[in-house]
Amino acid sequence: MRPYYCVLSLIIAIFATTMIGCGGNGSKTFVSIGTGSMTGVYYPVGSAIMKLVNKNRKGVDVKAKVESTGGSVYNINAVVNGDLTFGVAQADRQFQATKGLQEWKNKPQEKLRAICSLHPEIITLVATDASGIKALADFKGKKINIGNAGSGNRGNAEQVLKVAGISLDSFIAESLNAGECPKMLQDGRIDAFFYTVGHPAGTIKEATAGKRKIHFVPITGMEKLIEECPYYAVAQIPVKNYPMSSSKEDVPSIGMMTTFVTSSDIPEDVVYKVTKTIFTNLDELKKMHPALESLNPEGMLKGLSAPIHPGAEKYYKEVGLLK
Ligand code: GLU
Repeated sequence: MRPYYCVLSLIIAIFATTMIGCGGNGSKTFVSIGTGSMTGVYYPVGSAIMKLVNKNRKGVDVKAKVESTGGSVYNINAVVNGDLTFGVAQADRQFQATKGLQEWKNKPQEKLRAICSLHPEIITLVATDASGIKALADFKGKKINIGNAGSGNRGNAEQVLKVAGISLDSFIAESLNAGECPKMLQDGRIDAFFYTVGHPAGTIKEATAGKRKIHFVPITGMEKLIEECPYYAVAQIPVKNYPMSSSKEDVPSIGMMTTFVTSSDIPEDVVYKVTKTIFTNLDELKKMHPALESLNPEGMLKGLSAPIHPGAEKYYKEVGLLK
């Protein structure tokens, strides 16, 4: 291409993008969906929603793109700050951000809005057989990843350790992204890692598929925590998803729902369109990732603690999911 053609196409591209950014009539509205590590479940789930939205040309023309991020805490903050349009976030994190707890202590995130729940997640603790870690009580002196700062899992690891009476100084706590953990585990550079994730998850498959034998560590004795926290429930890690792991029976832990959130700044018609696309294409969405298999419309309205966005509410009222 000749140089002046390049410059011309660049000018046209910049002009077109600006027009779109202004949201003029007949233009596209670009939205972003914050997810997690690429080998987690948020990323493929966010990508599935993106594909459905981009395929559905009815109503406002929304063009979605998915972003790999640090996870729940990052997504909530970015949605509230306007850096992301939508975000995937653990139900516990949505609750804490809404009420001004944990990372958001005394700072309730007033702009945070709920759309729906998605798949269930489980606090998953993966350890090498060689580490000898069979319970939280075996952490002393070991190198364990509790998660990066923007992740949802870091707070879960801290919470369960506190309940179990394990201090963070009694072991070497790492702050890696979940996506880095399988290799670190297989290289013998960490003994275990926490990951709050839906199943099956690429990261866990990768972690269990190497030369070093890997197992899941039960997280038990959490009854009081479950009682105190409305978003937690007992759960079992389904080991059938990880045939290479040395755990042969489902492993008890605790879990919560994954939710889909946005901000009160996002226009009603955009959120309406995205909500309607998710709900009217549920059968297709369920086939797009095995973690989504058991989605159902009523269940998807549970586990939400932020106010429901008016765009989502409009759809739910239209179809009778909300009065
Ligand atoms: N629950 C994790 C987090 O909030 C992300 C899990 C995933 O990416 O599937 O950090």
